[in-house]
Amino acid sequence: MSDNIEGGCRCGAVRYKLNLEKLPNVYACHCLDCQTWSGSAFSLQFFVPEDALEVRGAPYLYERVSDDGERVSRQRGCANCITRVYNTNSRRPGFAVIRAGTLDHSDRLSIVAHIWTKRKLKGIDIPKDVPSWPEGAPTEEFIRIVMG
Ligand SMILES: [Zn+2]
Ligand SMILES: [Zn+2]
Repeated sequence: MSDNIEGGCRCGAVRYKLNLEKLPNVYACHCLDCQTWSGSAFSLQFFVPEDALEVRGAPYLYERVSDDGERVSRQRGCANCITRVYNTNSRRPGFAVIRAGTLDHSDRLSIVAHIWTKRKLKGIDIPKDVPSWPEGAPTEEFIRIVMG
């Protein structure tokens, strides 16, 4: 399948293409960091192998070292319209985490997991058949669900 999977920032200065066979599975994170980063109730994101991600334009880079000093998150986005587009993290080399709402066809995505639901806002109900965890999910199970 080569139905182009593309996305980008609000103004179009940063665009990307995903060389994937199918649309990725999306997860929602309700943690405070994600609420602050996104200005919303939760973040929506998905993993892709970094070598499947082709970026056009010149995204800004913001680096943040974790409080314990053990991980570096590298946030990329558009400096013109201030859209966050994706990040990488030294804890997960070779993978990029993309903000799902930046996909052109974000309406075709499915949310397959929710994490950090103990921070979830009232009024957001998670369907019973969608796995969720009060904090982070066990890594192997989570990867199986989101990469499946
Ligand atoms: Zn932009
Ligand atoms: Zn989060």
